Amino acid sequence: MYKIVILGSGAAPGVPAIAMGWGNCNPENPRNFRTRTTTYFEYNDTKLLIDTSPDLRGQMLQNGITSLSAVLYTHSHADHLHGIDDLREINRINHGSLDVYGSDDTVRVIKQRFPYLVATPQKANNVSMQPSLVANVVNYYEPFYINNLKIVPIRLLGHAVPSTGYIFNDGEIVYVADYRKLEDKALEFIKKDVELAIFPMTTTKGSEFHAGLNEILQDIKRLGCKKAIINHMAAECDYDVVKTITPENVEPAYDNMLITVD
Ligand SMILES: [Zn+2]
Repeated sequence: MYKIVILGSGAAPGVPAIAMGWGNCNPENPRNFRTRTTTYFEYNDTKLLIDTSPDLRGQMLQNGITSLSAVLYTHSHADHLHGIDDLREINRINHGSLDVYGSDDTVRVIKQRFPYLVATPQKANNVSMQPSLVANVVNYYEPFYINNLKIVPIRLLGHAVPSTGYIFNDGEIVYVADYRKLEDKALEFIKKDVELAIFPMTTTKGSEFHAGLNEILQDIKRLGCKKAIINHMAAECDYDVVKTITPENVEPAYDNMLITVD
């Protein structure tokens, strides 16, 4: 059984945005209030975060998250990464380090930007003073396990920095982060029906570094997703409008949206 909570459904500026305000979003609809991208992912006893947005503290408090097995990172942009210091609270609860996973590019940037939080499996940091994270490099298309959860990292093409998606348990759940295009090779690793896929959008028309709605809907079909969630939306995307222009099996995300898959 999977339990997934979209802790933050917004693109980098969040909604409302400091510069743009509510944009095209109806401020009366609470589903248009969006913090930045973090996703909570639970499978049996395995509890993960995918990314740690700058809004992480509020997201964890609001959802009562006090226990994590690990964190998966998709890429090094600030809106996905810069809440990383708040993981210290998990270190304090665990009295030890926490494993984080990312591609070699992402892990390199984490170590450059936040050298003080890097620990080793042998030696944790002093968690009353700083976070204590053990960085694990994952290779594209090489499966790895966290407890009994099988994870295959996939390469996402066309974003401004290298970006990684994750296939869980041979495709039961697929998580796509900022991207323009899926690499064909990723499809080889989907061996089961895709019960749920999560895609990022930013704006419906797309841009140089982000797929637009048409491209995303094509990918949802290509993967044969039973259900898909459109996540990571900017102030251009009103919840009700996106819901109206997407097929029945596709739903826009909102903060604290809970999805369970048996
Ligand atoms: Zn982003």
